[in-house]
Amino acid sequence: MIKETLNGKTLDDIYQLISTYGFNLFHAALIAKNIYRKRITDISQFHGIPRQLHKILTSVTSAGIFLPVHSEVSTDNTIKYLFRNDEEKQFETVYIPDKKRNTVCVSTQSGCRMGCPFCVTGKYGFYGNLSAGEIVNQIISIPDASKVTHVVFMGMGEPMDNLENVLKACRIITAEWGMAISSRNITVSTVGITRSIKSFLEQTECNLAISLFSPFADERIRVIPVEKKYPVHEIIDLLKNYPVRKKRRFSIAYVMIENVNDTNMHLDELKAMLGGSKIRVNLLPYHPGKDDPHTSSSNERMLYFKHNLVISGISASVRRSRGADISAACGLLATGLKKEF
Ligand code: SF4
Repeated sequence: MIKETLNGKTLDDIYQLISTYGFNLFHAALIAKNIYRKRITDISQFHGIPRQLHKILTSVTSAGIFLPVHSEVSTDNTIKYLFRNDEEKQFETVYIPDKKRNTVCVSTQSGCRMGCPFCVTGKYGFYGNLSAGEIVNQIISIPDASKVTHVVFMGMGEPMDNLENVLKACRIITAEWGMAISSRNITVSTVGITRSIKSFLEQTECNLAISLFSPFADERIRVIPVEKKYPVHEIIDLLKNYPVRKKRRFSIAYVMIENVNDTNMHLDELKAMLGGSKIRVNLLPYHPGKDDPHTSSSNERMLYFKHNLVISGISASVRRSRGADISAACGLLATGLKKEF
């Protein structure tokens, strides 16, 4: 008999399951607490639930928390984990400890089908969507789970291409009965699928980051093919006009490549695109892959962009990159290990 997994269920889902046996919402909340707060992998070890409920849960469910199969530690203490689910699909997670915040970067798919030609995950292929439980598992199963303060959906896959499971994972991560991490500390990153973004904005309070690459459509389309179907200008307009609650953040991730997207023309177009909005620009260094002729823009150039954006009234920052020595960019670990497993 295939057992249902508790990890990945909302409070309502758990209540639906146990109410048929005469148990109530209070018991459902206790089960959720054992999974999402105490992160207990063995149901027989669950605290505070009646013996009869223990018996029922053990016979029809499993906790559904599974450990990574491989990990690599970077010199800056970033840790990259590789997971493999029951169907042998691989996906990866990065834990990024910092002074005030400890961030987990989760995957939403095994591989990706957006086909961005320069992305390692894109080249890896597409092996399927991850369930809400598999997304949440990347946070609750790692050794530092109790220290996690922030979650970013920037690992393998395009979150807006797996919206239902991403929304459910966001609910579990932010809910009081779940992990109770503030939606202000959750950021979902996308290349931009407009219809999914609309639903995401309506159904969560989490932050949204758009991977831009270039403000020019003809350039962006070569790197992010989905631009053809969902022009980023439409998404920016949507965000500009969207009623934002005080603490929610919209941002642009702009990876800077020397002489490719760091010219004054790009800077002027960025200013024209984002002027008058509250959308923040995060300028990121580029990490060339093997045999890649491109290099990152210099630190000076990145600071020049930042300075010019800020004096134009656009919030901007230069972000340092973490975990470069363990290829802590989407898809690299799974790709590297594909043949080994
Ligand atoms: S850049 Fe993102 S959306 Fe594009 S192929 Fe890679 S993981 Fe997918």
